[in-house]
Amino acid sequence: MVINSCLVRESAENRVYGLIKNILDFDRNKKIVLTGCLAGLERAKVLTDKVEIMPISDISYKIEPLREEKEIALVPISFGCDNFCSYCIVPYARGREKSRSEKEILAEIDKATENGFKKVMLIGQNVNSYRKGGFAKLLEKVAKKNLEKISFVSSNPWDFSDKLIEVIAKNKNIDRLIHLPVQSGDDGILKKMNRKYSAKEYLSLVEKIRKKVEKVEFSTDILIGFPGEDAKAFKNTVSLCKKVGFKVAYLNKYSPRAGTVSDKLYKDDISTEEKKKRWRVLEELINKKNYLR
Ligand code: SF4
Repeated sequence: MVINSCLVRESAENRVYGLIKNILDFDRNKKIVLTGCLAGLERAKVLTDKVEIMPISDISYKIEPLREEKEIALVPISFGCDNFCSYCIVPYARGREKSRSEKEILAEIDKATENGFKKVMLIGQNVNSYRKGGFAKLLEKVAKKNLEKISFVSSNPWDFSDKLIEVIAKNKNIDRLIHLPVQSGDDGILKKMNRKYSAKEYLSLVEKIRKKVEKVEFSTDILIGFPGEDAKAFKNTVSLCKKVGFKVAYLNKYSPRAGTVSDKLYKDDISTEEKKKRWRVLEELINKKNYLR
């Protein structure tokens, strides 16, 4: 049995431990292979010897993917991340960013189109830092393929180049819903998160894209209740959300991840109740409103 682990939240990590225990309680001789984020961390090594650890970087991209999703082909273009946002475990679990070769990516897309896929999503932790500025060029090549829609996720504000905006504007088959994680609308919190922009810079980028790309909409990720997020800081996030008018927001409540900088430096000082309250405010403001549209 293969377990593909996710560590983005503490609860996700705990579910992996629970699942391994349940499987072995049921059958002591079951062979388990653990991959995904947890497999990249030291703490995975203390798991029982019934579990074979296979870091995701050991899995070759050359294996032809079995696509369960029948409409959109998900194509990885890079792996890992160099950014070290203070709350995030990814750079430790998945390692530094490694980009796949353009040739390999384009061949995988050709194969997907031969198999009838009309939509492709380019995926990676930080797609728009692909080959340090090479994402716009790659995206343009993908846009020339016979595809109805090309999406990409996740892209970070500091790597969103003018060239990339130009390529999106020029190619109508590139998705007009752009995912641009903001995490917070408060400069003090953004700094503590080690995000590389201010609220004002984020808003200017949104405006710049809006001017060039017709009918563009934005989705985002927001981390609620980061240490030190007082009422004023949260209000700044609400205000930024109103200004952008996000179509969708993926809302996460902060939980400290062992090994990250924010866990070492800051106390998780916002109560669970308060995080839930703030989550409801943003859910109401962004997601509920859009369900009713
Ligand atoms: S850019 Fe994304 S994946 Fe990379 S450290 Fe920041 S939150 Fe984590």
